[in-house]
Amino acid sequence: MSRSVLVTGGNRGIGLAIARAFADSGDKVAVTYRSGEPPQELTEAGVLAVRCDITDTEQVEQAYKEIEEKHGPVEVLVANAGITKDQLLMRMTEDDFTSVLDTNLTGTFRVVKRANRAMLRAKKGRVVLISSVVGLLGSAGQANYAASKAGLVGFARSLARELGSRNITFNVVAPGFVDTDMTQALTDEQRKGIVSQVPLGRYAQPAEIAAAVRFLASDDASYITGAVIPVDGGLGM
Ligand code: NAD
Repeated sequence: MSRSVLVTGGNRGIGLAIARAFADSGDKVAVTYRSGEPPQELTEAGVLAVRCDITDTEQVEQAYKEIEEKHGPVEVLVANAGITKDQLLMRMTEDDFTSVLDTNLTGTFRVVKRANRAMLRAKKGRVVLISSVVGLLGSAGQANYAASKAGLVGFARSLARELGSRNITFNVVAPGFVDTDMTQALTDEQRKGIVSQVPLGRYAQPAEIAAAVRFLASDDASYITGAVIPVDGGLGM
């Protein structure tokens, strides 16, 4: 059955792989992105691309209206959009901290709250949040990012309790290090250091994160809610 799926930050990296995975399953997929044109392959695959900054409630509202008009109410939400602004604590400005929280955590709140309007009406829904192994382990120089990603776990587990009786599931995928623009900024030395700590000895490919997300949104995961699934090559165990 073709479902209306929304992937935030779906124009590149992990979000793009997630959008591809749902489109390959025959779902009606919409992606939001903040900047940069989405790749042609997405539009050719029939994916609806909507520009939307998730730090702006009005833009979120407009994006949902457009998606609902074209695809119907969102049945599966993947809250993937996120940013980093790495800095050691004493050099981290208040803006470095609050802007990361505002995108990764409050931005997720905005899109989840809006999606739940229709999910409550439909008495079903699937929400998957993209956290990070860093939210579970911590990471020097990433206190803002780690706090936002750990926050997503409490957020999802609270909503899993609050809305389980309404047949809406909330699960979290916690990727390790994935080969995307976000990790391209690391030096070769940093990359080697990371890989040496990963039991599987390599970075993840975005499609490997997408596979876990697609599972959590599938009927096979009908009795899973409030779960945090690490997809990290064993890094966080
Ligand atoms: P990326 O930088 O390639 O993509 C980030 C996406 O988020 C982009 O599509 C961008 O448009 C969108 N975005 C950022 N700010 C936004 C805003 N204000 N409004 C709307 N969209 C916004 O990153 P990625 O590596 O593909 O990461 C995707 C998610 O996975 C992020 O939440 C990230 O924290 C998480 N993650 C990534 C890794 C990794 O190693 N790459 C590891 C763990 C978790």
